[in-house]
Amino acid sequence: MIELPEATTIARQMSAELKGKCIADGNRGNAPHKFAFYSRPPEEYAAIFEGKTMGEATVNGWLILASVEPAHTLILGCGGERIIYHHSATSLPKKRQLLLHFTDDTYLTVTVQGWGAALLLHQSEVAGHRFVNLAKPSPLSDAFTPDYFLGLFTGLAKDDRASVKYFMISEPGVLGVGNGCLQDILWQARLHPRRPAVGLTSAEKLRLYTAIREVLQEMVEGGGRDSDRDLCNCPGSYKRILHSKVVGQPCLRCSAPIEKATYLGGAIYVCPSCQAATGLE
Ligand SMILES: [Zn+2]
Repeated sequence: MIELPEATTIARQMSAELKGKCIADGNRGNAPHKFAFYSRPPEEYAAIFEGKTMGEATVNGWLILASVEPAHTLILGCGGERIIYHHSATSLPKKRQLLLHFTDDTYLTVTVQGWGAALLLHQSEVAGHRFVNLAKPSPLSDAFTPDYFLGLFTGLAKDDRASVKYFMISEPGVLGVGNGCLQDILWQARLHPRRPAVGLTSAEKLRLYTAIREVLQEMVEGGGRDSDRDLCNCPGSYKRILHSKVVGQPCLRCSAPIEKATYLGGAIYVCPSCQAATGLE
């Protein structure tokens, strides 16, 4: 799943590899997919793409916003996707949900796995789109200060039962953090995902803040997590601490065996010792 580290990596690579390339033709791919989200009919994608030039790509949470100059934005990401740059037609996937063919006979393909977005919006439509959130600060930006993060907790009612996991990935949510990045962040912060957010001490909140910044930064510097691939179809070099293959293996910090559970619609991995479930109802 593309989350902030992978989106950041792919956006950088798109800017470096694709900026200035002219689109000979582009389309919504050759394989309809139930959970591929588009914003216009196929013929409009084709008409808009033809003859346009790729501009800079930026990031909004786990979305990649690639400028299609002069007036459009291609928005990719939002779930499970492969976004791959091809130097020739020989490596094109047989089934794809978006294809851009550039005038130098290189290509960009998007393949949706699970669900994903390939929105083509006029620039004036971007800010208002339901997938886009320009109001929230990126957790790696200067605006994501300790004060900002601690302020998110003040919005919780005293009897709010929402867990740390819900707080992090849903409401209020940290932009670009999903159930993937969450695992190592909570391990680093030594917090159990089921802990009620309202019950965290000040020290725990600050530990969580620091873990968000440090773990995401490390993931970005590693070109994404080792579970995901970049624009060149290479896995990221950030080695995840908690994932399915370490269940039962010793925790890197305290040697207790890592446990797995299902919670809020996804797997959670925890060290039962470091991430003690104190305060659980
Ligand atoms: Zn541990």
